Amino acid sequence: MHGRRLNELGLKATRPRLRVLEALLSSRKRHLSAEDIHRRVVDAGSRVGLASIYRILAQLEAAGALRKHVFEAGVSVFELDGGDCHDHLVCVSCGRVDDFQDRAIRLRRQKIADEHGFDVSDEPLMLRGLCAGCARKRRTPAAQRAGTPAAPRRSA
Ligand SMILES: [Zn+2]
Ligand SMILES: [Zn+2]
Repeated sequence: MHGRRLNELGLKATRPRLRVLEALLSSRKRHLSAEDIHRRVVDAGSRVGLASIYRILAQLEAAGALRKHVFEAGVSVFELDGGDCHDHLVCVSCGRVDDFQDRAIRLRRQKIADEHGFDVSDEPLMLRGLCAGCARKRRTPAAQRAGTPAAPRRSA
């Protein structure tokens, strides 16, 4: 199935390329670094070097199969390009990344760009901060010291 997708994008469906796509598809996390992908490919039984993974990721990105984001300085992460437009919530403590879509934000951004005669290259918006889990962990010790009960646990 991914083989056909690669062919449509003008890339030969080589085994390492397929392994990289599988690593992304089978991951619970949507956004993976080259090192994460390399680890998953090796764990799945392929001997592909990290340098090859970087090369394959660049090819897949250039062909439009993947999107690359830089959430932290110096760290690129990749996700499968599903053709949707979405923005990101990035936790600076644990690295968790959540996607979100908001039509009102999209339209407003487009309006601002239009007013400036600005041609947006669709750089997704990134909100950095603490995810619910990390924010709770950070709050809990202070709350306990103050003698108030900790906030109820919400499941993710
Ligand atoms: Zn977090
Ligand atoms: Zn995303």
